[in-house]
Amino acid sequence: MKLKLAKTAGFCMGVRRAVEIVLDTANRQQGPIYTYGPLIHNPQVLEILAEKGVTVIEDVSGAKSGSVVIRAHGAPPQAMQALVDAGLTIINATCPRVIKVQTIISKYARQGYACVIVGDKDHPEVMGLLGYAEGMGYVISHPDDLDKLPSLERAIVVAQTTQDGRLFNRIAKTMAERFPHFKVFNTICDSTLKRQAEVREMAKAVDAVVVVGGRNSGNTQRLAQAVEQEGVPAFHVESEAELDCQAIEPLRSIGITAGASTPNWVIKKVFRTIEALPHQAKGRWRLMLFRIQRWLLLSNLYLAMGAGCLSYTCALLSGIKPGFAPALMASCYVLSMHILNNFIGREAVRYNDPDRASFYDNNRLILLAIAVISGTVGLFMAFAMGSVPFLIVLIISLLGLFYKVKIIPGRLKIGKKIQRISDVPGSKTVLIALAWGVVTVVLPHLSVTLQITTTMIFVSLWASAMAFVRTAFFDILDMQGDRIVGQESLPIVLGEKKTFRILKLLLVIFLAALIFAPMMHLATTLAYGMILSVFYMSKVLMAFERHWVVPGFRFEFLVETLFVFTAMVTGLWQLLA
Ligand code: SF4
Repeated sequence: MKLKLAKTAGFCMGVRRAVEIVLDTANRQQGPIYTYGPLIHNPQVLEILAEKGVTVIEDVSGAKSGSVVIRAHGAPPQAMQALVDAGLTIINATCPRVIKVQTIISKYARQGYACVIVGDKDHPEVMGLLGYAEGMGYVISHPDDLDKLPSLERAIVVAQTTQDGRLFNRIAKTMAERFPHFKVFNTICDSTLKRQAEVREMAKAVDAVVVVGGRNSGNTQRLAQAVEQEGVPAFHVESEAELDCQAIEPLRSIGITAGASTPNWVIKKVFRTIEALPHQAKGRWRLMLFRIQRWLLLSNLYLAMGAGCLSYTCALLSGIKPGFAPALMASCYVLSMHILNNFIGREAVRYNDPDRASFYDNNRLILLAIAVISGTVGLFMAFAMGSVPFLIVLIISLLGLFYKVKIIPGRLKIGKKIQRISDVPGSKTVLIALAWGVVTVVLPHLSVTLQITTTMIFVSLWASAMAFVRTAFFDILDMQGDRIVGQESLPIVLGEKKTFRILKLLLVIFLAALIFAPMMHLATTLAYGMILSVFYMSKVLMAFERHWVVPGFRFEFLVETLFVFTAMVTGLWQLLA
């Protein structure tokens, strides 16, 4: 079965911004927090906000004090003034594109123009827009409604930002014939237009389209309608539980799209459920292979294998003899820490990777046993390598274990809220990368000589940089869940675009460094081979940014193959040498 995920699926800029504003406010601010109406039309997100103590109010009587967030749809200015008069602090999360429409209406209303809004009269955005029309606003939703308009001398026409593009064009055309003096502004948001255009294109190339999103979300309903208008079946689901697997499984190609208010983790759950369907149908062996691959990935065994591979490569890159003990120690340390990390950070995993979360719930005992055994074996191997490596592994393991534990008492807290290592913004990404550099390069090196060399520093920086790119990349994928639980990962602190730029810059720096390293005696000539691993990771980033691959189970496997790939290149390099 071919799966196609729409590039435009999920939160649009405005909804994403509003959700981020509310979550950041809830994570940082004390005191009551309200949203003026439900933040978005998505039951799962509303449930999370309720869990975080964010209350929905419909009017000013619902709140006495605190902050009230104006959702992406905006609100009438009169309602906002009433909130201020009631002593509430306004946090305006109105989408900038909606503000643009409000500004147009307001500007022309001051000049005496009436305003005709093409949209749903009960939609909160339309109700907000009407507030700017100074009592001269009219809402129409069909060309026939034009007959109901009073005679207007001067008027402008705008659209609800999520309005269907074809319908608006039809109304605008009729309007131009009947009321040529009206000024028409096509204010449909390009995010909506792109989403609708993409789903229509997608529908032409697949057997059916699964549309994910809240039942009462207007833009999600319109996506399903657009699919049906193309003569293709549309399955509108709110979650994976509503999937009609019997109807979907025999299909050869499925498209998946989602409304502007559907969070990533809901899309991910639906994608993963459909992704697993053909394996169940293709016989025992195929299913077994799929399950083994899934087990290796979700349990982090595949990643641990990668750590062993990286240790082997780094030894050759540093010019020391690769050994079984250092590779096993690196694998065991990585396995133990990453499994424990999934348990410690299970709240975020629940949102970022629901499949992984249920895997950890279902295999709790066996995974905890693997973590304890691998941690012990790792320490034992470090001990076999010498007292210094043992001490270092012990320290970094304890750091990992106490990552989320309060180590600074409440009254001594540093700055605003730093009491745990995890409270330091971006600490997770940096510490994981450093730990990888230590276990794969520094410790094997120290087991041979206690001298710190420039080669050791260079190779450990390279290994840390590759681990950093891998971890930060997953942090980018996990931004929504991290934000929900208040985890300030690097992309949340710096922003997605800036983080991407840093990752690319890092890859470019190491690309250049690997070219010159052998000449400067910083690494063996294997460094030339390692240029391929930098290319590998660059391709992964590029594939994600350009939507060449769908971020599902296979894509994650591809990312985790990075370190296995380094060992493959090393093996080939040795053969050729
Ligand atoms: S659909 Fe467009 S206008 Fe509406 S919230 Fe999203 S980005 Fe803003």
